[in-house]
Amino acid sequence: ANLDTMNFHAGVYMLAWHQKKEDVVGLKAPKREKRVRKETRSQPPVEAPYVAPKPKLTRSAPDKIVEIFDGMTLRDLSKRSGATINALQSILADLGERVESEFDSITIDLAELVGMELGVNIRRMHTGEGTVEPRPAVVTVMGHVDHGKTSLLDSLRQTSVAAKEAGGITQHIGAFVVEMQSGASLTFLDTPGHAAFSAMRARGAAVTDIVVLVVAADDGVMPQTLEAMSHAKVANVPIVVAINKCDKSGADPERVRIQLGSEGLLLEDMGGDVQVVEISALSKLGLDKLEEALLLQAEIMDLKARTDGPAQAFVVEARVDRGRGPLATTIVKSGTLVSGQYIVVGSEWGRIRSLRDTAGKVTESAKPAMPVEIEGLRGLPMAGDDVVVVDSEERARMLSQGRKKKQEKDRLRKIDENMTEEAEIGEETPERVEMPIIVKADVQGSVQAVTDALRSLNSPQVFVNVVHVGVGPISEHDIDLAQACRACIVGFNIRDPPSAITLGATQANIKILLHKVIYHLLEEMGRLIVEKAPGTAETQISGEAEVLNIFELKGRSKSKGPDIKIAGCRITDGRFSRTGTMRLLRSGDVVFEGPCSSLKREKQDADTLDKGTDCGLVIEDCDEYQVGDTIQCLEQVIRKPKFISTQSGAVRIEC
Ligand code: GDP
Repeated sequence: ANLDTMNFHAGVYMLAWHQKKEDVVGLKAPKREKRVRKETRSQPPVEAPYVAPKPKLTRSAPDKIVEIFDGMTLRDLSKRSGATINALQSILADLGERVESEFDSITIDLAELVGMELGVNIRRMHTGEGTVEPRPAVVTVMGHVDHGKTSLLDSLRQTSVAAKEAGGITQHIGAFVVEMQSGASLTFLDTPGHAAFSAMRARGAAVTDIVVLVVAADDGVMPQTLEAMSHAKVANVPIVVAINKCDKSGADPERVRIQLGSEGLLLEDMGGDVQVVEISALSKLGLDKLEEALLLQAEIMDLKARTDGPAQAFVVEARVDRGRGPLATTIVKSGTLVSGQYIVVGSEWGRIRSLRDTAGKVTESAKPAMPVEIEGLRGLPMAGDDVVVVDSEERARMLSQGRKKKQEKDRLRKIDENMTEEAEIGEETPERVEMPIIVKADVQGSVQAVTDALRSLNSPQVFVNVVHVGVGPISEHDIDLAQACRACIVGFNIRDPPSAITLGATQANIKILLHKVIYHLLEEMGRLIVEKAPGTAETQISGEAEVLNIFELKGRSKSKGPDIKIAGCRITDGRFSRTGTMRLLRSGDVVFEGPCSSLKREKQDADTLDKGTDCGLVIEDCDEYQVGDTIQCLEQVIRKPKFISTQSGAVRIEC
């Protein structure tokens, strides 16, 4: 066996790339074992000890989630949060609210404010009561790179309400609506790819009802096709397959069907319920069939939502307009969003100055699955943020302030935890180096997704520090900043920078990574991180030999030293080197360990000798050799972390 590959085994962490930073920095390098471990003969001859990674620390208190809802009694909140009625009453009093009895009910906003004071995490539970009506489906397009996701969205967008009303001109606001002749409609999220989908879900914003899986008929199932399938599966979102590029001469839709079937997708033609449509995004063939299939899928799902009462919505994209200020495209999940309402969006707040539909027309209200652009926010929210309607400006301000404070507190707590963990890792862990990164992407949603994904590459040896993020092309300013903090720049889904910028970066020795696929970006970044990691010094058994006979070299005089015993050996595995430490084993027990004072092959000094070679070997100050003993050669190596990627698209750095 190749001894190099028999070195330390990998750990057992399985981490999806979108997992949160705190989970990732929880990874620890297994502690090195200091003592010499005795081996028995029943073990494989050469194997370094496997040290199981320590389990992650559990931190219950601050991670506790308390579910809150409108009209909950003080008693409910007390039971769920563990705080006494008295404590809750006194917090409420500080908030200017008097609640006399434990059976009195409070609003959900008040419950959140109390929760923030208590320092617990809250999850808003929304009522399903009210008028429930059918609603349109929200669709996300996914699939392998270059299989035509963007082209499909472009073609569909041209059939959208916005395009029809604006004479074909559409603006990218993160979503669009396609209306069918029957009057039914479909809402498409206008950000292709898996990054946005996963990032939104990771933040609790599950807006997608159906995934369109685009597979190019001339290319077939590829890694990201499978990745998309697992994303949809994990999220429990049904798939409609669009076999694209059917206009091409090399198109083989049948092959794609067979491939998908063998990957476990239960296609309609094979007795399952996953619909398959053959299309050409470029020649706009089969788009109506695809829309019909999506409608049918939506009908089967019987999608409904509460339409009256306060809205609950999610941000799918946010940007700042020079004249209009922060704009957020949101999709209403339930209820009705009405112009003029006070809202809290993530940790920002505002009063809806105007709502615009996807055609840019001002509208008074928005119902479920209807994307609208909100104007009137005080700050820029992030994709995936939730939108809640509150009673007054004061409440909006308080919630926004409270959430910001809580975010800051959580951030500090995380830093604190990281430091404690680093301290726990102990003095044997090499210093942690920093990898500063600037992220630029096409839209806010991608910025968030890329940042989250990059942070999943955090490891005990390299701290991935996203120092600056922004929407738009790489600018002079980014180069200056990168130079100042020795950062590399990541450009996701943006135009190639102009040559002046590229030249500036080259001169300043700044790396620019341009990618359109998160997975490729992570792969390149993973390589950089591994390169940069200091690695851990480790003792590795590089070879093993058997003692076949023993020679004695008599000391000829006092000055030439005492008698020396030489072990005549045959190297049975790996490699011996003169600089290594030698370990003498008898029946699996370590008898002696010391530096090598001589390594010879046929009387010639040798630096290294390979498997199968006979040699004469002297361990300093050792005269205990016996025929049949085993000698191991130990070498110090620097082991770099490994970049691990799985077929499902999950990546991690393993130390
Ligand atoms: P994405 O990476 O999945 O968003 O793929 P794109 O939409 O950028 O498409 C990749 C390439 O395939 C582009 O050059 C498109 O013009 C081409 N393409 C997309 N759809 C079709 C199609 O239906 N037929 C043909 N012939 N080419 C297509």
